[in-house]
Amino acid sequence: MINHFVPKNLKEALTILNKHDCYIMNGGTDLMVQKHVSTGLLPKFDKDVLYINNLKELDYIKKDEEGIHIGASTRYVEIENSPLIPNIYKRVIKEIASPNIRNMATISGNIANASPAGDTLVPLVLNDAEVVLTSANGERKMKVDEFVYGVRKIHREKNELISEIVLKPQELSYFYRKVGSRKAESITKVSFLGGVKIENKVIKDFRVSFGSVAIKTVRNREIENKYIGRNINELDINEVINDYAPLVTPITDQRSNKEYRHKVAMNLLKKFVMDIKEGGINE
Ligand SMILES: Cc1cc2nc3c(=O)[nH]c(=O)nc-3n(C[C@H](O)[C@H](O)[C@H](O)COP(=O)(O)OP(=O)(O)OC[C@H]3O[C@@H](n4cnc5c(N)ncnc54)[C@H](O)[C@@H]3O)c2cc1C
Repeated sequence: MINHFVPKNLKEALTILNKHDCYIMNGGTDLMVQKHVSTGLLPKFDKDVLYINNLKELDYIKKDEEGIHIGASTRYVEIENSPLIPNIYKRVIKEIASPNIRNMATISGNIANASPAGDTLVPLVLNDAEVVLTSANGERKMKVDEFVYGVRKIHREKNELISEIVLKPQELSYFYRKVGSRKAESITKVSFLGGVKIENKVIKDFRVSFGSVAIKTVRNREIENKYIGRNINELDINEVINDYAPLVTPITDQRSNKEYRHKVAMNLLKKFVMDIKEGGINE
């Protein structure tokens, strides 16, 4: 028999997770699709389900010296409308799905779903955001970049849930592009985020992340460090392309083919570097 648990508070949720191996249902916008059987039939679950989307204790956005804390059940629509959230996240979230999905869906669901096409992963990884994992035994924290380690692969123990995401605001200018089949309600074929800080033509910070082109979001700190400290006039577009090209290893699927994805990813990188050389990013 499958149990459906609707806990009244976080403590009750964690007690249930300690005893039962459950699917965690947040907004359900991924999970319900994954468990969909056929039109007219209810989704089919093969193990217990724990609902957390109604937990008020996990619905908040607050800021302190550590960063911006987003409770795991906070929906995209609340994040889009909060004055505490950096614009780059709002920009990325506005291009996710449609308003009705964004009224239910959450960042923690996007992270835990661990799809290479998960759009929030691209800014979260670039900006060193963290997840807080909570169980009846306590709390631990991990960088999103480490927490997701492959397609649908995350470092979560069965008795844990993501209770919070911690954003680490950065002083960067951003260049973001999501490439899909159409403007709205489109799953990403390729996404690109570049972040840069320039002072007196010298690069003080340089970061790049790609979505949907490998088993997880691509970011490489070694390459980034190579360009930090360089004058923008000495930035060689071909050198940057050659550094990143081997890391971009997309697949062919129903949305796109690997050649197209690679080409688009490199074109976006090229545009980012050209904009830096021409005096900066103005977005
Ligand atoms: C029509 C449509 C369009 C979409 N468009 C986009 C898009 O443009 N970009 C995009 O990135 N995604 C898109 N999605 C996918 C989905 O909406 C997002 O991934 C969303 O952020 C998932 O959040 P959720 O709260 O609904 O997750 P859920 O479906 O509730 O959960 C997803 C997964 O995460 C786990 N989980 C959820 N919360 C937690 C938690 N707190 N702790 C541990 N595990 C947890 C669940 O067990 C499940 O495995 C789309 C989906 C649909 C149906």
